[in-house]
Amino acid sequence: MSAILPQGILLYLIFAWSTLSAQSPASKLTALPLEAVTIQDAFWSPKLKVWDTKTVYDVLDKLEGKYVPDRKDIADELKKIGRTRNAFYNFDLVAQGKKDLNMHDGPPWYDGLVYETFRGAADLMIEYPDPNLEKKIDAYIVRIAAAQNADPDGFINTYTTLMRSHQRFGTNGGNENWQHDIYNAGMLAEAAVHYYNATGKTQLLDVATKMANYMYRVMGPEPKQNIVPGHGGPEETMFRLYKFFQAYPEVKSKMKTPVNEKQYYDLAKFWIDTRGNHGRPDGTYSRTNWGPYNQDSIPVTEQKTIEGHAVRATLLATGVTAMAMEDNDAGYIQTANNYWNNMIGQRLFITGGQGAIPDGEKFGPDYFLPENAYLETCASIGAGFFSQQMNELEADGKYVDELERVLYNNLLSSISLNGDQYHYENPLSTNSHPRWVWHDCPCCPPMFLKMVGALPRYIYGTNNDAVFVNLFISSNAKFQLKDKDVSIQQKTEYPWKGKVVLTVNNPSASEFPLHIRIPGWAAGKENPFDLYSSTVKSKPELKVNGKAVNMQMEDGYAVVNRKWNNGDKVELVLPVEPRVVYPSADIKNISGKAVISAGPIVYAFESVDNPGLTNYSFSKSADLKMQYKPGLLNGVNIISGEAKDANAKTVTFTAIPFYAIGNRGTQAYQVWIPVK
Ligand SMILES: [Zn+2]
Repeated sequence: MSAILPQGILLYLIFAWSTLSAQSPASKLTALPLEAVTIQDAFWSPKLKVWDTKTVYDVLDKLEGKYVPDRKDIADELKKIGRTRNAFYNFDLVAQGKKDLNMHDGPPWYDGLVYETFRGAADLMIEYPDPNLEKKIDAYIVRIAAAQNADPDGFINTYTTLMRSHQRFGTNGGNENWQHDIYNAGMLAEAAVHYYNATGKTQLLDVATKMANYMYRVMGPEPKQNIVPGHGGPEETMFRLYKFFQAYPEVKSKMKTPVNEKQYYDLAKFWIDTRGNHGRPDGTYSRTNWGPYNQDSIPVTEQKTIEGHAVRATLLATGVTAMAMEDNDAGYIQTANNYWNNMIGQRLFITGGQGAIPDGEKFGPDYFLPENAYLETCASIGAGFFSQQMNELEADGKYVDELERVLYNNLLSSISLNGDQYHYENPLSTNSHPRWVWHDCPCCPPMFLKMVGALPRYIYGTNNDAVFVNLFISSNAKFQLKDKDVSIQQKTEYPWKGKVVLTVNNPSASEFPLHIRIPGWAAGKENPFDLYSSTVKSKPELKVNGKAVNMQMEDGYAVVNRKWNNGDKVELVLPVEPRVVYPSADIKNISGKAVISAGPIVYAFESVDNPGLTNYSFSKSADLKMQYKPGLLNGVNIISGEAKDANAKTVTFTAIPFYAIGNRGTQAYQVWIPVK
């Protein structure tokens, strides 16, 4: 945005976004906008550079079919159809007016993956402007708009048009659960908003709103049709589209498509409220019941647990939470809490993974947490988005603890250190789990880009009169509090070291409470429901301008309330030291085992470091040594200690961060190790 708009307008947009758009009536915390935060961090900045300069291009190229297949299914397909799947070829065919060709490259949600990649890329462009990338995406958008223009209604989903054009949104015997018409339209809406934020360009917004307007005409209360998304996600994104136009009404005058943003709110609310409502007993206003797989067996406000396809479930949960914040609706708030408490209290994997069961890619029953679980990358990221949204609703550090668990473990393990190979499943134990170049369902890399693109937003938050420090990432944040400029500079070597220094600049010398998250693991609460437990030897320490202060805790945050002068310093020291984490007795699959962690990082044992791995056990009182290895895996803390092998012989083990597995060739690895 800075490349396009004069500085004054940029500042206006920053503050307009933070005070208008993101603020919902029942929100207790508003994340700072991307433009307000810059990251300069020893851990994250080099990774962001790889993702920005390599991964984004890699994913776009592969969506265009530019890769050498490394998996048999894709190689076989190449032999059969003579080319690799090209998502943009689909758009071009539709733009030429083609219909019902009985051919479509990639899965039905391929369009959606293109849009999701645009969203991630757009966010990264705000932090790292890239005119080449912008040009590349602009050219794709022209092709997408051309595809939409071939349809008088503005309908756009290439799969449905090329395969079954008479079955839009699953009507006439179709299957929206498979077709993803609404899911793709939802991803289009969020891509359009993010791309506008990054570039000030409206072409994608025109495409997105034209499709949204069409959906509003077709689905809703009678006499419209009973249609809800076959895949959760659009509930949140359509709500965001509404909030976007509410915040920036002037954008409408730059667009070709008429916008009445209230319709997008109505659509999102209709989709949420219509889950579990499959029509009347006489068969009118009816549709297929997709059951718990698509969170559709009972109405949302009656759902006590989080069920079904884990990506669908976590994205729907995020939408319900966003709507809860807007409407201050007790039913939605209760459902959001039901989902989160069940997900984190009974179904959470130690790495932040979610969705135990491969069949249906779904949540398992309570306390079913096997080491060889499925744990799709997208499900863990969906859970991270959901935890962030819960924190915006309730401002409680426990939600950030779970976002952080995802960020430093399951999320990072899903991509190779060199940024162009990926994991779909993220089990905690395996004999062989190769990374892939491209997948027949490559949903995870775009989802990964969405979360890392949004990372700067998650570091800080504000509400009417308070500031929150959520994540420990070296960064600068500039924002306004009660119309006064404030900035915070954060310096840290987290996650390898526990010291965090915050410098507050506050020219108006006003008084406000600064909430600094004290992670659960640092305070003897590994999990808010004691699904896992651990203890650290030292306690967190807090100093203000060099003087130790007693921590006044409030909902997971230490609160320092004072008049802040320019240059005031807060120093937090967190006990980043090896700790042993035990599962609750309710988890039978891993009883008698433990995990080694330090700070937010969960450790794993790879066979290359630990040849006798599968027979290792270690003692509860083992002396665990942590050491930084700058030359290993782009610089990591390793943890070593003594274990016993199958013959009760003492061996030395080396554990690496779980996120770094699979970067020295394909290895066997384990996270849980028997402990005696
Ligand atoms: Zn995925």
